[in-house]
Amino acid sequence: MSEEKKVGWSFEVFPPKRTANISSIYMTLAELKKLNPDFISVTYGAGGSENCQATVEIANAVQNNYQMNAVAHLPCIGLTRQDVLEQLNRFREIGVNRILALRGDKPVSGEFKQGDFEHASDLISFIRAQNYDLQIYAACYPEKHYEAKTAEEDLDNLKIKVDSGVDGLVSQLFFSNTYFYDFIEKVRAKNINVPVEAGIMPVINCKQIERMVSLCNVKLPKKFTDVMSRFSDNKEAMLEIGIAYAVDQIIDLIANGVDGIHLYTMNNPNVANRIYEAIKHVIGRV
Ligand code: FAD
Repeated sequence: MSEEKKVGWSFEVFPPKRTANISSIYMTLAELKKLNPDFISVTYGAGGSENCQATVEIANAVQNNYQMNAVAHLPCIGLTRQDVLEQLNRFREIGVNRILALRGDKPVSGEFKQGDFEHASDLISFIRAQNYDLQIYAACYPEKHYEAKTAEEDLDNLKIKVDSGVDGLVSQLFFSNTYFYDFIEKVRAKNINVPVEAGIMPVINCKQIERMVSLCNVKLPKKFTDVMSRFSDNKEAMLEIGIAYAVDQIIDLIANGVDGIHLYTMNNPNVANRIYEAIKHVIGRV
């Protein structure tokens, strides 16, 4: 029998909207802890240092109250070098030494403060030059980033990014594993050798998918759209279908040697728990 590879297992959460009860995220974290993740990453609304407060607060809770590894997202669009140094110091003060270094999305409308960084790779080079002892993750796009003209151009840019000092990549969500496998083959052919965690999002309602497709530039396979259109009005069925689809994707990825699974939890610990129960033996977490 071949030796089993240790598969990474991690989650993404996001700060609840101001109107939501902030304590809901702490209940979510308590539940996610039971699912044994390698880390929990916390998103950060791009566009300036004033957005960081909730990210810092939640990353602090992940790291210090719940004793899990926190990965704090850091989108650099609109930030100055000084903003980034201040932000890194905040993370250091709370013992968070893992970040996901991002550019952030350019706003469709509205004024945006000009910052000191153009690409995530500029942020990563800047951070590496500070000699901080940080683990740095970055994003990658199996179906290409929406601004890149070609997949080849996007891969060249990914190579620049990884060579600027990345320890691991986390992928954009995708619904067809074929895209991911093709992507990984090209990534390795470019001599990009860091681990790549596959981003999986369980879709449990149709509104969620419409938003994701427009935001993330991902294609939906026919198998997926068929069930969505057939059961979109049936909440209970959609929950089961979303979980089953994600489990199916994950098992196939693991069978094909994926480095790790990064689950976009949508702050829903019940869905994460159902998926964990279905795959815990497959990822060797029992
Ligand atoms: P980059 O790596 O800078 O790439 C952006 C574009 O520029 C690409 O088209 C790339 O090909 C091109 N490019 C890159 N480097 C170069 C270069 N050196 N020269 C020329 N072109 C270049 N957004 C948030 O605001 N907050 C979050 O918390 C957040 N979390 C995310 C988590 C994950 C796992 C992912 C996949 C995305 C996340 N995003 C988040 C969204 C992300 O900010 C957007 O997708 C953004 O448009 C690109 O960010 P990036 O870091 O990949 O940018």
